[in-house]
Amino acid sequence: MRRSRPPKKHKTVFAAVDGKAPEYFECPACGFLSGDPAFASPDTPCPLCGAAQTERRIWPADRIRRLDARIRRYQADGESEVVVILAMTLLETILEDLLDRMLAAHGADLKVRRMVMDTQRAIGIRLGKLFPALAGEEFEDAASELGYADFPKRWRRLREARNAFIHDSPFTGPQEHLDQRAADEAMSLLDQAYRLFVLMNNRFVADGMHGE
Ligand SMILES: [Zn+2]
Repeated sequence: MRRSRPPKKHKTVFAAVDGKAPEYFECPACGFLSGDPAFASPDTPCPLCGAAQTERRIWPADRIRRLDARIRRYQADGESEVVVILAMTLLETILEDLLDRMLAAHGADLKVRRMVMDTQRAIGIRLGKLFPALAGEEFEDAASELGYADFPKRWRRLREARNAFIHDSPFTGPQEHLDQRAADEAMSLLDQAYRLFVLMNNRFVADGMHGE
C-alpha cells in the first residue's frame, strides 16, 4: 500500500479538447503523460524524472484514436446506439491500457501482464479487484481524490444500459434503445475518461515507478 505519498513535484497538463482524441506525450523512462505541446520535443526534460533527449510516444495509441474518430462520426450522424456501445468499448480498452501500465510499474513482465489480462477479463473484476490490488485503494476513491467522484457511478450506469440493450436482462427486461441522451452521456464520459486515466497514470504508474 502506498498511502503516504511524497508531495507532488509535478502537475499534469491536460491536452486540448477539440473534437478528437486528445494528444498526450509519454516519457519513455517513467511513463509520465503530458498534454503540454512543449513536451513533444525531446529537449524538454520530463517534469517527473528529468529524462530528456528521448523520443516521446503519443498516447493514446493509434488504434484508440481511430476508434475515437469513428465514435465521433457516429455521434454526428445521430447513431446513438452505436455511440454508446463503441464508447463503452473504448473506455474498457483504455482501462486495460492503464492496468497494463500499472502491472508493468509493479515489475510484471509482458508474459505475466498478458496472463493477468487474459484471465481477468470481466470489467467488474478489473475495477473491483485488480485496480485496488495495484493502486492500494478502490477505483472509486482514486477517482474521487483526483476530482472525478461521479465518474465511476456514471460509467457503471451506462454499462448497465448498454448491457440491458445487448442482452435481455432477467431483472429489467430488454432495453429497447439507447437514446440521444445516453449517447451524449457516453461522449461526456469519453472526454472525462482520457483526463482521469492520464491522472491515474501519472499517480500510479509514473509516480509508482519511483516511489518503490
Ligand atoms: Zn519521466
